[in-house]
Parts: sequence; C-alpha cells; structure tokens
Amino acid sequence: MIHPRPRWLVQRGGLASRYARDSGVVDMRRVHPHRIGKVRISQVRQSPIHPVRGTGFRMAVLTIVARTGSHQSPGHPPAYLANRTMPTSVERVYLLGAGSSASAGAPLIKDFKERAEEIVLRDGSRVNPLMGDAIASWNTTASAANVEEYYVLVDLLARLNGSGQSQRAVEGVRYLIAKTLELSMVGGISEIHKKFVHKVWDISQGRRDFAIITLNWDIAVDNAAYTHSQFSLDYGYEKARSFHGDPDRGRPKLFSVLKLHGSLNWWVCQNEECQTLWYTEGEKDVPLYWEKEETRLCRTCGSILQPLMVPPTAQKFESSQKALSPMRSIWKETREAMVNCRDLAIIGYSFPPTDVQFRFFLLEALSNNHNLRKILVISSPKIGSRRLEFEDSYDTAFVQSPHRQKLDFAYDGFEAWVESGMPF
Ligand SMILES: [Zn+2]
Repeated sequence: MIHPRPRWLVQRGGLASRYARDSGVVDMRRVHPHRIGKVRISQVRQSPIHPVRGTGFRMAVLTIVARTGSHQSPGHPPAYLANRTMPTSVERVYLLGAGSSASAGAPLIKDFKERAEEIVLRDGSRVNPLMGDAIASWNTTASAANVEEYYVLVDLLARLNGSGQSQRAVEGVRYLIAKTLELSMVGGISEIHKKFVHKVWDISQGRRDFAIITLNWDIAVDNAAYTHSQFSLDYGYEKARSFHGDPDRGRPKLFSVLKLHGSLNWWVCQNEECQTLWYTEGEKDVPLYWEKEETRLCRTCGSILQPLMVPPTAQKFESSQKALSPMRSIWKETREAMVNCRDLAIIGYSFPPTDVQFRFFLLEALSNNHNLRKILVISSPKIGSRRLEFEDSYDTAFVQSPHRQKLDFAYDGFEAWVESGMPF
C-alpha cells in the first residue's frame, strides 16, 4: 500500500543537505536510493527552495510518499526521523594547510623535494623508478619550484601538448607526492590529529555546525576520524563510497572533511556519467596505481578508476555542467561553509602568493559572509622578521577585505593549540 507521508522540512544544498541527515529529516542526497531507514520511498515532491532568514540556509519542503512495511503505521515519520533538532548556523570552519600535517610526519611544501630525494636514496628498491625520473626532470626544468608549483607546471605542460612524455611527467609527480607522503607518515594514527578531530566534535556537541577543509593530500585527519565511535566521514560528495562497504554502520552521524585537492585514498570512476568516488579507509593506497599497474574497477559501473589528486591550482572541473564531479561538489560545499561560518580557524597555512586561485576563492567567499566574527591563524612559532613576513602575507591578501580587522594570530603551533583545548 502507498500512504502519503506528512510533510517534513528538509534542508537542501551543499552543507545544508548534509546537516539534514543529523537534524532528523531527510538528506536529499540519500532519498534517491529509495530508502530511509526501513521506509521505502516511492515518490518525493519538493517545494521551491527559499532562504531562511538569518541562518544562511536554504530550505525546501518535501512531500514524501512512502511505501511502508506492515509494522510501520502510516502518517508518522519513522523513528530514524524523529526527535532531532536542526542547527541554525555554521559555527566554525577549520582550514588546514600543509603545516598542520607536519606533526604527523608530512614534509612542508618547501621541503618536499629534499624528502623525496632522501627516500629515493634510502629506499630506492622500494619505489618505482618513476619517482627518480620525476626528481631528475624537476631538477632540470624548474629546480627552484616547490612541489605545488612544479605539479601545476607539469599539469599545464601536459594540457598544452598532450604528448605521452608530458603525461608521464604528470604521473611521475603524482606518484612522487603520494609515495613521499606514504613513506613520511608511517607512525600509525597521529595522536594530535586524533585529539583535534575529537575536540572538533566535542565543541560542536554533535550539532555538526562545522566543517574541516583541507588543502592536504594526506589522510591524517581521515584516519583520526575513524577512531571516533559516533560518526563516519562525509567527504562532501554524494557519490563517495567506501571499498569496505557501508562505512556508516553503527556510526550514524557524519563528520565533514572537504579535501580540495583530492586524497591519497581516493579513486574516482572515469565514466563521466558515473564518477563514483571510491575510497579506502585508513590506507594511503594510491601509490599502488603506479607500482602494481593495478587496474581497479568501479563497483557501480565497471569502468576504470584513477587516483584523485589534483594540483593546487587549475582544478579540472568538467566542461559538462551536467556531470556531478567530486571536485565540483567539494568546492561548492567549501564555498558554502566559508560564506556561512562565524569563526574561521586557519591552521598551518602561509597564504603563499603563488596560490592565487585559492586565495581569491577564499576572499570572494568571505566577502559574502555577513556572520563572520573572527579569523584565527594558528601558526608554528615565528619570531622577528619571519613573523612580520607571515603577517604581511595575510595583510596583503586581506587588504581589500572587510574582514581584515578580524584577523588574529596564535604562534604556539597546531599541537600546542590542540593540547590547550583549541581556544578561539
Ligand atoms: Zn563508475
């Protein structure tokens, strides 16, 4: 039998749709599997979307027609949907740069090549020759470039001439980055990241009024998040799936981690119609793509999977507006979080002048934010001219921003900040 269900308020769009799941209504993105808990959804009708004053959210009313099992009484929402309250704002965004991963063993951007060279010297037999070749061409073509700049360069060259050789150079850099991070971050789960993730959750008291946005490829935060018993990760993409099956089992809440440059455990389906993002929990397994020439196939459509790690600029958003791509979805959610947050913590990021794309993306989003109270920059200890230079880079970036006066700096480093309870 088909019963009309009551009308439930549903938040829609980006972050809001993810809040919807915990706030007790229906996450739009999970409606289409035609199932919410034990209730099969046969039809969803949506009212026009309208903004809710003062919250930064847009809302829609959904009328859900559900086919219920015999034990479900019609007219009442399933237990899954009952007794939840809805958050009203994005309180805090944590933006993580490379400096935040240093405490988990990752090299800083400027030290990346040196670390990669050490690895080739020390572990030559354990790494694919692709890595040595990548370092050699890096040294001959742009030895002064840091790893991000060099990745951007080879990516650009490959687009310009499309030869097999330039494509190989891109693959070399991707492998170099993946392998260097893999072999640099071997100590298991980073304790400081674990404390950080748990504290983020404690501060929000389960309201999910936060987002972690990271510019890093490594999985220090991801791994730390798996240690929590209450939530699973939400990568900000509807079609993200774990290779290990349902990662939500027993952990019904979601924890937002938006990875702007992809991740060392992400494999994306190359079929444009599908673009499912497959991820491996707890393993930086992307290097296998180059080492074992392992062909992984999409479990949804059978197409080939490729690692998803993108250069810090020049993201490849597909020309087709129809295709929902992981990167487009993640960047959209990031923007929404930046536009709505009240506090912004920037951790281990020096606002390098070369990172033009991200700088203007961030500033544009913040210029639309009318709730912002404070921007706290958490940096490793700096004194004298280094400190002035660091603050100058922020001053320069924010020179035209209405939020310039809201910048504040803390120089105890990420670890000390976390250990002291993340004061804001
Ligand atoms: Zn697929």
